[in-house]
Amino acid sequence: MTTLVMFSGGLDSTAMLVKLLTETPDELRVHHVTMVNREGRAQAEQDAVESIVAWCKTRYRPFRYSESGLDFSGLATIPIDFLSIAYVACQVAIDTPGCARIAVGTLARDLDEVKRSVSKTQRRIFETMYEVYRARKAGEERVEWVYPVYQLSKAQVASLLPAELRALTWSCRRPVVTSAGYRICGTCKPCRFRREVAAALQISL
Ligand SMILES: [Zn+2]
Repeated sequence: MTTLVMFSGGLDSTAMLVKLLTETPDELRVHHVTMVNREGRAQAEQDAVESIVAWCKTRYRPFRYSESGLDFSGLATIPIDFLSIAYVACQVAIDTPGCARIAVGTLARDLDEVKRSVSKTQRRIFETMYEVYRARKAGEERVEWVYPVYQLSKAQVASLLPAELRALTWSCRRPVVTSAGYRICGTCKPCRFRREVAAALQISL
Protein backbone atom coordinates (compact mmCIF):
# COMPACT_ATOMS: atom_id res chain seq x y z
CA MET A 1 0.00 0.00 0.00
CA THR A 2 1.16 3.49 -0.77
CA THR A 3 0.33 6.60 1.25
CA LEU A 4 0.23 9.93 -0.53
CA VAL A 5 1.59 12.65 1.76
CA MET A 6 0.48 16.20 0.98
CA PHE A 7 3.51 18.16 2.10
CA SER A 8 3.87 21.93 2.62
CA GLY A 9 7.27 22.25 4.30
CA GLY A 10 5.78 23.62 7.55
CA LEU A 11 6.21 22.26 11.08
CA ASP A 12 3.02 20.17 11.10
CA SER A 13 3.50 18.48 7.76
CA THR A 14 7.18 17.80 8.53
CA ALA A 15 6.18 16.14 11.83
CA MET A 16 3.63 14.09 9.90
CA LEU A 17 6.28 13.02 7.39
CA VAL A 18 8.70 12.00 10.15
CA LYS A 19 5.98 9.97 11.91
CA LEU A 20 5.08 8.14 8.70
CA LEU A 21 8.73 7.47 7.88
CA THR A 22 9.64 6.20 11.35
CA GLU A 23 6.44 4.60 12.65
CA THR A 24 4.96 2.91 9.56
CA PRO A 25 6.26 0.57 6.88
CA ASP A 26 4.15 2.42 4.28
CA GLU A 27 5.60 3.22 0.95
CA LEU A 28 5.31 7.01 0.66
CA ARG A 29 4.74 9.39 -2.18
CA VAL A 30 5.39 12.88 -0.88
CA HIS A 31 3.82 15.66 -2.94
CA HIS A 32 4.24 19.41 -2.67
CA VAL A 33 1.93 21.92 -4.30
CA THR A 34 3.74 25.11 -5.26
CA MET A 35 1.04 27.66 -4.59
CA VAL A 36 1.77 30.96 -6.28
CA ASN A 37 -0.45 33.76 -4.96
CA ARG A 38 -0.25 37.33 -3.72
CA GLU A 39 1.13 36.25 -0.35
CA GLY A 40 4.40 35.48 -2.15
CA ARG A 41 5.32 32.47 -0.03
CA ALA A 42 5.97 29.97 -2.85
CA GLN A 43 9.76 30.36 -3.07
CA ALA A 44 10.34 30.19 0.69
CA GLU A 45 8.18 27.08 0.92
CA GLN A 46 9.87 25.52 -2.09
CA ASP A 47 13.33 26.01 -0.57
CA ALA A 48 12.17 24.51 2.74
CA VAL A 49 10.53 21.54 1.03
CA GLU A 50 13.64 20.71 -1.00
CA SER A 51 15.94 20.82 2.05
CA ILE A 52 13.54 18.78 4.21
CA VAL A 53 13.01 16.12 1.54
CA ALA A 54 16.77 15.73 1.03
CA TRP A 55 17.37 15.59 4.80
CA CYS A 56 14.64 12.98 5.43
CA LYS A 57 15.72 10.76 2.52
CA THR A 58 19.25 10.63 3.93
CA ARG A 59 18.39 10.30 7.64
CA TYR A 60 15.30 8.04 7.50
CA ARG A 61 14.57 6.11 4.31
CA PRO A 62 13.99 6.72 0.62
CA PHE A 63 10.60 7.77 -0.75
CA ARG A 64 9.13 9.08 -3.95
CA TYR A 65 8.86 12.86 -4.18
CA SER A 66 6.97 14.95 -6.71
CA GLU A 67 5.54 18.43 -7.06
CA SER A 68 3.07 20.38 -9.13
CA GLY A 69 2.08 24.01 -9.24
CA LEU A 70 -0.96 26.23 -9.15
CA ASP A 71 -0.39 29.80 -10.22
CA PHE A 72 -2.94 32.27 -8.84
CA SER A 73 -0.65 35.31 -9.07
CA GLY A 74 -3.13 37.12 -11.35
CA LEU A 75 -5.86 37.03 -8.68
CA ALA A 76 -6.46 39.84 -6.19
CA THR A 77 -7.86 37.46 -3.55
CA ILE A 78 -6.03 34.59 -1.84
CA PRO A 79 -7.44 31.30 -3.18
CA ILE A 80 -8.74 28.72 -0.70
CA ASP A 81 -5.98 26.26 0.17
CA PHE A 82 -8.16 23.30 1.12
CA LEU A 83 -9.90 23.30 -2.25
CA SER A 84 -6.60 23.45 -4.11
CA ILE A 85 -5.13 20.64 -2.01
CA ALA A 86 -8.22 18.40 -2.47
CA TYR A 87 -8.08 18.95 -6.21
CA VAL A 88 -4.37 18.17 -6.52
CA ALA A 89 -4.56 15.23 -4.08
CA CYS A 90 -7.18 13.64 -6.31
CA GLN A 91 -5.00 13.88 -9.42
CA VAL A 92 -1.89 12.65 -7.62
CA ALA A 93 -3.72 9.75 -5.89
CA ILE A 94 -4.83 8.51 -9.30
CA ASP A 95 -1.27 8.93 -10.58
CA THR A 96 0.07 6.77 -7.70
CA PRO A 97 -0.23 2.99 -8.19
CA GLY A 98 -1.65 1.29 -5.05
CA CYS A 99 -2.50 4.59 -3.35
CA ALA A 100 -5.04 3.81 -0.63
CA ARG A 101 -4.38 6.66 1.83
CA ILE A 102 -3.89 10.41 1.68
CA ALA A 103 -2.15 11.94 4.68
CA VAL A 104 -2.57 15.59 5.63
CA GLY A 105 -0.86 17.43 8.49
CA THR A 106 -3.92 19.03 10.06
CA LEU A 107 -3.87 19.64 13.83
CA ALA A 108 -7.11 19.47 15.85
CA ARG A 109 -6.03 22.59 17.77
CA ASP A 110 -6.04 24.62 14.54
CA LEU A 111 -9.62 23.65 13.76
CA ASP A 112 -12.52 25.69 15.05
CA GLU A 113 -16.14 24.75 14.21
CA VAL A 114 -15.95 26.36 10.78
CA LYS A 115 -12.67 24.73 9.82
CA ARG A 116 -13.87 21.35 11.09
CA SER A 117 -16.72 21.46 8.62
CA VAL A 118 -14.24 22.68 6.00
CA SER A 119 -12.16 19.54 6.42
CA LYS A 120 -15.34 17.46 5.89
CA THR A 121 -16.05 19.54 2.81
CA GLN A 122 -12.51 18.89 1.58
CA ARG A 123 -13.10 15.13 1.78
CA ARG A 124 -16.48 15.48 0.08
CA ILE A 125 -14.96 17.46 -2.78
CA PHE A 126 -12.24 14.87 -3.15
CA GLU A 127 -14.76 12.01 -3.10
CA THR A 128 -16.89 13.61 -5.80
CA MET A 129 -13.88 14.17 -8.05
CA TYR A 130 -12.57 10.69 -7.34
CA GLU A 131 -15.94 9.12 -8.26
CA VAL A 132 -15.67 10.73 -11.68
CA TYR A 133 -12.29 9.09 -12.19
CA ARG A 134 -13.41 5.76 -10.71
CA ALA A 135 -16.18 5.69 -13.31
CA ARG A 136 -13.32 5.52 -15.81
CA LYS A 137 -11.67 2.81 -13.67
CA ALA A 138 -8.80 5.07 -12.71
CA GLY A 139 -7.23 4.75 -9.26
CA GLU A 140 -7.78 2.30 -6.40
CA GLU A 141 -11.20 1.08 -5.24
CA ARG A 142 -11.07 3.17 -2.06
CA VAL A 143 -8.94 5.99 -0.76
CA GLU A 144 -8.95 7.00 2.90
CA TRP A 145 -7.84 10.36 4.40
CA VAL A 146 -5.58 10.07 7.43
CA TYR A 147 -4.39 12.71 9.92
CA PRO A 148 -1.18 11.41 11.57
CA VAL A 149 -0.54 14.47 13.78
CA TYR A 150 -4.17 15.42 14.44
CA GLN A 151 -4.03 14.90 18.23
CA LEU A 152 -0.70 16.66 18.80
CA SER A 153 -0.21 20.14 20.22
CA LYS A 154 2.11 22.63 18.49
CA ALA A 155 4.68 22.02 21.23
CA GLN A 156 4.50 18.25 20.69
CA VAL A 157 4.92 18.76 16.96
CA ALA A 158 8.01 20.91 17.50
CA SER A 159 9.52 18.49 20.06
CA LEU A 160 9.02 15.56 17.72
CA LEU A 161 11.48 17.03 15.22
CA PRO A 162 15.27 16.98 15.52
CA ALA A 163 16.54 20.58 15.92
CA GLU A 164 18.38 20.44 12.60
CA LEU A 165 15.23 19.42 10.75
CA ARG A 166 13.05 21.88 12.66
CA ALA A 167 15.28 24.69 11.46
CA LEU A 168 14.57 23.75 7.83
CA THR A 169 10.79 24.16 8.11
CA TRP A 170 8.96 27.28 6.91
CA SER A 171 5.72 28.63 8.40
CA CYS A 172 5.44 32.32 7.48
CA ARG A 173 2.57 33.19 5.14
CA ARG A 174 3.88 36.60 4.12
CA PRO A 175 7.68 36.53 3.71
CA VAL A 176 9.39 39.91 3.33
CA VAL A 177 11.73 40.30 0.35
CA THR A 178 15.26 41.37 1.28
CA SER A 179 18.48 41.91 -0.67
CA ALA A 180 19.62 38.46 0.52
CA GLY A 181 16.36 36.79 -0.54
CA TYR A 182 13.55 36.81 2.04
CA ARG A 183 12.86 36.69 5.78
CA ILE A 184 9.88 35.85 7.97
CA CYS A 185 7.36 38.66 8.56
CA GLY A 186 7.15 37.91 12.29
CA THR A 187 3.54 39.06 12.54
CA CYS A 188 1.33 36.55 10.67
CA LYS A 189 -0.48 33.86 12.70
CA PRO A 190 2.00 31.02 11.98
CA CYS A 191 4.94 33.34 12.85
CA ARG A 192 3.27 34.20 16.19
CA PHE A 193 2.63 30.49 16.94
CA ARG A 194 6.25 29.63 16.27
CA ARG A 195 7.43 32.35 18.63
CA GLU A 196 5.09 31.17 21.39
CA VAL A 197 6.15 27.53 21.03
CA ALA A 198 9.83 28.47 20.93
CA ALA A 199 9.43 30.50 24.14
CA ALA A 200 7.45 27.75 25.89
CA LEU A 201 9.96 25.04 24.99
CA GLN A 202 12.98 27.33 25.25
CA ILE A 203 14.18 26.26 21.83
CA SER A 204 15.04 28.18 18.70
CA LEU A 205 12.40 27.99 16.00
ZN1 LIG B 1 4.97 35.52 9.00
